[in-house]
Amino acid sequence: MPDADAAQSALRALHAEVDARAAGVAGRHGSRLHCRRGCSACCRDDLTVFEIEAERIRRAHPDLLDSGTPHAPGACAFLDAEGACRIYADRPYVCRTQGLPLRWLAEDESGQIVEARDICPLNEPGPPLETLAEPDCWLLGWAEERLAALQAAQDGGSLRRVALRSLFRRAAAPG
Ligand code: SF4
Repeated sequence: MPDADAAQSALRALHAEVDARAAGVAGRHGSRLHCRRGCSACCRDDLTVFEIEAERIRRAHPDLLDSGTPHAPGACAFLDAEGACRIYADRPYVCRTQGLPLRWLAEDESGQIVEARDICPLNEPGPPLETLAEPDCWLLGWAEERLAALQAAQDGGSLRRVALRSLFRRAAAPG
């Protein structure tokens, strides 16, 4: 089992790789993507993250978690009053690819491997998703697998998850 600091370094490296690859995909879409500071449509209140990603947030934002007020229920607890993320640099993987055209492979009812695609409704206008080249889409799966491996290695094989809101000491307080 890697020590906690080594595990956090590996997590940061994965997050950085995701950011670089996501920027590459985003750069292929010009003005189609409307993701920007203050747009919080993806920032749901029910998000959970692996313990290893929760630990990155704990280490980077002790004061916020100890004495800060979570956003009111109904949206992510880490949003501020302007709809911006208060832990942006340390946000979890799931927040780093939101808004991109997504594609993934799954088994259909007949056992065939088929591709599915999706995108945030705010970014829907533009060329139909099915016409996009594969490099124009974020492929789900590889980063999730590497993240799960980091989590399991650090946590005795456990894939335990933590609700983002629960990281606040005042998690139960009104926003
Ligand atoms: S952690 Fe930040 S980016 Fe992720 S859902 Fe919460 S506010 Fe949005």
